[in-house]
Amino acid sequence: MTTQPVSVARIAIPAPLRQCFDYIIPEVIDSKQLQPGMRIKVPFRNREMVGIFLNLSSEPDVAWNRLKPLIQVIDLEPIIPADIMQLCLWAADYYHYPLGEVLSGAMPILLRQGKPAELAKEQYWQLTEKGQSVDFEEIKRAPRQIDVLKLLAMHPEGLTVKQLSKHDVPSTILKALFQKEWISARGELFAAPKQIVQTPLALNDAQQAALDAIRAAMDSYQALLLDGVTGSGKTEVYLQAITDILNRDKQVLVLVPEIGLTPQTIQRFRERYSVPVVALHSGLSEKERLNAWLAAKSGDAKIVIGTRSAIFTPFANLGLIVVDEEHDLSFKQQDGFRYHARDLAVMRAHFNKIPIVLGSATPSLETLHNAQQGRYQHLCLPERAGSAQMPQYQILDIRKAHLEEGLSAPMLAEMNTHLQQGNQVMLFLNRRGFAPVLMCHSCGWMAMCKRCDMRMTFHQSPSRLHCHHCDSQRDVFKSCQNCKDTALLAVGLGTERLEQALEKHFPGVSIARIDRDSTQRKGSMEELLDKIQSGEHRILIGTQMLAKGHHFPNVTLVAVVDADGGFFSADFRALERMGQLLLQVSGRAGRVEKPGKVLIQTRHPDHPLLHQLLSESYQRFALTLLKERESACLPPYNFFALIRVEAYDARHATTFLQKIKTITGKLTEGIRVLGPVFAPMPRRAGRHRMQLLIQSIQRPVLQHFLKALLPEIEKIPDKQQVRWALDVDPLEMF
Ligand code: ADP
Ligand code: ZN
Ligand code: ZN
Repeated sequence: MTTQPVSVARIAIPAPLRQCFDYIIPEVIDSKQLQPGMRIKVPFRNREMVGIFLNLSSEPDVAWNRLKPLIQVIDLEPIIPADIMQLCLWAADYYHYPLGEVLSGAMPILLRQGKPAELAKEQYWQLTEKGQSVDFEEIKRAPRQIDVLKLLAMHPEGLTVKQLSKHDVPSTILKALFQKEWISARGELFAAPKQIVQTPLALNDAQQAALDAIRAAMDSYQALLLDGVTGSGKTEVYLQAITDILNRDKQVLVLVPEIGLTPQTIQRFRERYSVPVVALHSGLSEKERLNAWLAAKSGDAKIVIGTRSAIFTPFANLGLIVVDEEHDLSFKQQDGFRYHARDLAVMRAHFNKIPIVLGSATPSLETLHNAQQGRYQHLCLPERAGSAQMPQYQILDIRKAHLEEGLSAPMLAEMNTHLQQGNQVMLFLNRRGFAPVLMCHSCGWMAMCKRCDMRMTFHQSPSRLHCHHCDSQRDVFKSCQNCKDTALLAVGLGTERLEQALEKHFPGVSIARIDRDSTQRKGSMEELLDKIQSGEHRILIGTQMLAKGHHFPNVTLVAVVDADGGFFSADFRALERMGQLLLQVSGRAGRVEKPGKVLIQTRHPDHPLLHQLLSESYQRFALTLLKERESACLPPYNFFALIRVEAYDARHATTFLQKIKTITGKLTEGIRVLGPVFAPMPRRAGRHRMQLLIQSIQRPVLQHFLKALLPEIEKIPDKQQVRWALDVDPLEMF
């Protein structure tokens, strides 16, 4: 008679199912060795997959005889430490996303694939203390091992596998010696830190007060909003707070927006500390990413700077989280697992009982609201640090002005003045390409994207029509597709066109255009930035890529070519974004001794919010917006979740959402369901897009509702024709 096993292993598997799976533990595996967070190889639908062990269970979800045994336990210790496990469990629950996907996504790709959690880079093998005192007599039957031990004794600094293989040392011998703990590997992860460490600046009173507040919060959870105008020295405050953390032998996580992780930023950290600083950026190879991850986990990397996904980096002893430019949209993942890294960072600080500093010159309304409510400590840096002055604003009314390729005469004149003085000038236009519209002069036909029903942008170099929504491209039409007329007009202004116009207007002045097209080639961004720093380029044209994080000491004039994008948008967040972008762009002007000026061209020169933003402060502007949000029952006073659906046939999308709406009618009160309606962009890449908005004035009520709703959605038959997703706390309405 076979005895039935007492318990099964519950595993989270990266599959789009909101459930975990049970596996039999083979007899050779001692179930007591299993710890939550270990990777396990399991059979899943005729494939082998890597899952994460969660717990033992004595009551499997399916009948015992239908269970399969797990294949292999990959790790000797949890690869996902307890705090990351807690964070992932929370996130999977809050965003209603499959736990297996969340856990898998938290690891570097090599680990997801089941590769060993070992430093993958070049390793230097060295003798351990034990290895230095081996009695050769005892291993005389393994002469090759003796050879290797002797070889390594001659190279106390260590030898790489490559160097060892030149001495015909196979990896099997290394493995054998490693298992006996006679040799160990030192990963050459970090360039030796520079000895000269930059000294900290003497802080001004506001900075000192902010630093003191962070210091006072050191060993417990506390969220602090560092609300300081551009150039007020927020980074200097982070740097000095980090010094404290390092002195306590703890580690620091710094989250930055996607475009904020510049070589300049990384450099600033590396120059300050004599400890290893690891940057998790998109240029890393998978091996480098794994190394960085492991170095943080082991405690070797003291400072990790990274974008959104770095929030899942494990640390041996995390002491502080900093989120720079906390308002930035790139902290929210916009597809798949739609989490907000800033919000998760606050949860993580809470779980880890450590302080978190959220920094911005233009905090999000959500964060300001939290500060108002006393949940976050509000630290203000109202003035620029050192001798730098705030820029001076001037609004240019262009309603009746004659424009030369989008530029008014006063703007051109002002540019000329600043260039004459030997300074640099920056123009901001958030539209790449030559012109946003290609139109027929006779009949008004416009080149549209077939897959999105949106206008295609006309680009000149290389010449093409490009849909910025689905990325499809095609040759430029030679004639109108409606009336065959060949007089096609490029209407509107993009950065390419602006560049050409300025080349004509300021002959001989070198221009740098920074947008996604001009920086596509690897290293081209760095090249452009170098030539700006050196003063070779005098005029800078940029999209929002140029708006943040950069420091251009000789830019004295910032010109906003078109400020009107945000005034009449359907998106209730558009004004907030416009204000943030305007101030971030303006923040590039006059960062050092030279005073800066900001010119803003607009067709709404009397808009009260624009005046409040420019002549009062961002805070006043934000408070006005918050009041409007409150009276309109919008976030952060109301909590949203969006069900987004895409389908090739619009009817499928409607039917699906109608079914969901019927279900929602039977559920809780305290919830409002709006829709189904077409998304602001009704078709993209060939798919029709619709949405259902679910809102509640209480977060727990909304969460409770979603929890009840999702299993019901899963039960809806014929879901294959649609793609659907739930977005909790959506930042963009599709
Ligand atoms: P932010 O992060 O708020 O934009 P930074 O920390 O980058 O501001 O500081 C802006 C500039 O002011 C930098 O050149 C920095 O070296 C300088 N700075 C910061 N703090 C001080 C200070 N206390 N005294 C003098 N200069 C400072
Ligand atoms: Zn035509
Ligand atoms: Zn398209």
